[in-house]
Amino acid sequence: MPSILDPDLRRALAERVRYCHEMGIYDFYRREPRVSESGTITSAVVELDGLSSTSEEQREEMAAKKSAVAARVADRNIMPVLPSNPEQAITDPVAALKLIREDLGDCTRCKLHKGRTQIVFGVGNPYADLMFVGEGPGADEDAQGAPFVGRAGQLLNNMIKAMGIRREDVYIANVVKCRPPGNRTPERDESETCSPFLMRQIAVIKPKVVVALGAVAAKNLLATNASMSELRGRFYDFMPSGARSSDPSWQGTKLAVTYHPAFLLRDPRQKGEAWKDLQMVMKYLGLDPPNKPVE
Ligand code: SF4
Repeated sequence: MPSILDPDLRRALAERVRYCHEMGIYDFYRREPRVSESGTITSAVVELDGLSSTSEEQREEMAAKKSAVAARVADRNIMPVLPSNPEQAITDPVAALKLIREDLGDCTRCKLHKGRTQIVFGVGNPYADLMFVGEGPGADEDAQGAPFVGRAGQLLNNMIKAMGIRREDVYIANVVKCRPPGNRTPERDESETCSPFLMRQIAVIKPKVVVALGAVAAKNLLATNASMSELRGRFYDFMPSGARSSDPSWQGTKLAVTYHPAFLLRDPRQKGEAWKDLQMVMKYLGLDPPNKPVE
């Protein structure tokens, strides 16, 4: 009996589906198996009703072959060997984040790996109600392995403190986890390759609010090209790709957009606007506004 799905094809399919999972695609639809007279899957669909020239006996035989093949395909369903993101079976966010980090490994999925010192995965409270997402690591972050630890990080710390909470209370990550050369903006293919891991982090942490810091984070998370002035000042319903709305533990997340701290360092006049954004977030989270602007 010829093999219906040879091991190489099976492996290739497994790799393809794994890639789709990393991109946040989980729902697949299988077409009716296509069956040749020899019982192998072919590219031509056999429409039994259209076989006017075949005898009743032949049609019955082919129908039997078709259902036998369908049964074998179902029996050899490739999905069981293609686990969805492994953290989905884990309820503890600490363990789930660890699994995502292990899955990321010594990542070389995009060209940003060439210039990095280390991967900057993300830090903070895995149970956080509030998560900040920036663009990518800079030189300090690349050296220390943690996001927002340079001058912009100091300002972000001040912003968090002004909200009446501590840096340890929130979770902080970036769209890309390796430093772009010369701190350039991550290129589209780099963001698209890396952001599924960020989406998985968000899906595990399930924060009540994600704050996108700057246009790159906002555009990646919201898949939009709108300007900062269009994006700021309101909440968006946000569900990371890969999260399942049918998951009873998924409550949905709000997303707000504000300026990147590095931009605020360059243009401190915008701090008042950033403070308005943070006050909107504080109100939603029920945090007491200390009426103290970002310094
Ligand atoms: Fe991998 Fe992300 Fe680093 Fe690219 S930026 S190499 S996808 S960890």
